[in-house]
Amino acid sequence: MKNRTSYFISNSTNQYGGVNMKKTILILSLVTFLLPFTVSCTIQQALNPSSQSTEPFPIIDMHMHMYQWDKYGDPPPPNLITNNTPGARSDTEAIDAYIAEMDRYNIVLAVGSGELETVRKWKEHTPNRFFGGIEFPKHTEPVNKRIEEWPDINEFRKLYESDQLMLMGEITAQYAGVALNDPKLEPYYALAEELDIPVCLHTGFGPPMSPYMGDPNFRMRYGNPLLLEDVLVKHPRLRVYIAHGGYPFLEETIALMLMYQQVYVDISAINWLLTPEEFHAYLQRLVQARLGERIMFGTDQMIWPETVGMSIDAIESATFLSEEQKQDIYFNNAVDFLKLDKGKYLPGSTEYYDESGARIVEVVTSEIRMRPANPGDQETVSVNLQLSGVTSTAIQVTGWDIDDVTETVMLINDQEVELPAEIVADVAPKTVTIELEEGLLREGENTIIFIFAEAVGGTTGFSILDVKILLRE
Ligand SMILES: [Zn+2]
Repeated sequence: MKNRTSYFISNSTNQYGGVNMKKTILILSLVTFLLPFTVSCTIQQALNPSSQSTEPFPIIDMHMHMYQWDKYGDPPPPNLITNNTPGARSDTEAIDAYIAEMDRYNIVLAVGSGELETVRKWKEHTPNRFFGGIEFPKHTEPVNKRIEEWPDINEFRKLYESDQLMLMGEITAQYAGVALNDPKLEPYYALAEELDIPVCLHTGFGPPMSPYMGDPNFRMRYGNPLLLEDVLVKHPRLRVYIAHGGYPFLEETIALMLMYQQVYVDISAINWLLTPEEFHAYLQRLVQARLGERIMFGTDQMIWPETVGMSIDAIESATFLSEEQKQDIYFNNAVDFLKLDKGKYLPGSTEYYDESGARIVEVVTSEIRMRPANPGDQETVSVNLQLSGVTSTAIQVTGWDIDDVTETVMLINDQEVELPAEIVADVAPKTVTIELEEGLLREGENTIIFIFAEAVGGTTGFSILDVKILLRE
């Protein structure tokens, strides 16, 4: 009984909305130089409005923080690079400021950490857009007499088993003088491996002069990614990513990722803290080492939301990256690492116009498999719709193994919509189009529920392969 949500974030001001257009132009200019008859299909695709997307490619921020607005003092200190002071003067303002950047750049998911209370606050403010973890170890005040606090492992287990946390970390052990392979971390690695939780490990550097400025035990050598080697041998199923590109441990980062192909890396902080030249040189080496499918975008946004745009600029200005490589870094690699349903986050491929001019919204892009199922089992799909200018609506359902129309019940916004008998099929998927009553679909969120209502003649369930909503304007 999973919940699926489709995101349609309209974002006409996004500066990367032109990416798909660029591709179309590229295809067209290639066509000019090639034999027309061999590429007629490509021309068709390039010119067919149904294959064009008006949505920018989604981005996942794999490394941000859910902090209190005054985490570093009141007033908050300026950004180290731009010298701009953040405007937020409450937690709500801080959350809103980050979410405004998510909307501006089409960041569909943010994976971040902070204290449990603030993580809860951020997730409650905007559900479905954050994966949260607790940053640890924590240090008590005062700075010169502090005590290191490690989370209770049993409490931790409960938080993960109840889905309150989705990420382990950011583990900032280096700041406490604890190396990545220190036995203190062993229970956390073991728990993450057992529960298959992604782990974010701080590696590499920290704020310059850290040992003199509140982190007396910080040591550069404890952030060397290669220290993870024995951990990975002991915990082969540990799903871990090394933060900040492992910078400046380039050779060690390549060595580790080359040998242990389950390891991913995020490029947070180095994409806006370093000079573009230094960041690009480092990133290019990682890509040249064939690690491009395991590099993930991140910002390390703490209290300066402008770092989101700075981090994206650093990728956009990397001339050695192809559009495909950028999309891998922005989105595809994180989807693989986090084991997400890609279609859920890809609005560009789920909304388009068909030949008749109807706006088609693909609600289901990956199979809803209810085989085996017990009578009463159900799957809920939710979809956001923009209905302005829509004059009539219909739904197109492709089902498979539906043995009788009484077996499968479909509810749209809690009202039953009868599936016609044509959908009954044992051997092949069948598609039906059903005109919907006026007013059944509503602006904003809509839910569609499929229920295995009756086991007809001993059948054990069905599949819904495809659901589209047709909006005629
Ligand atoms: Zn970090």
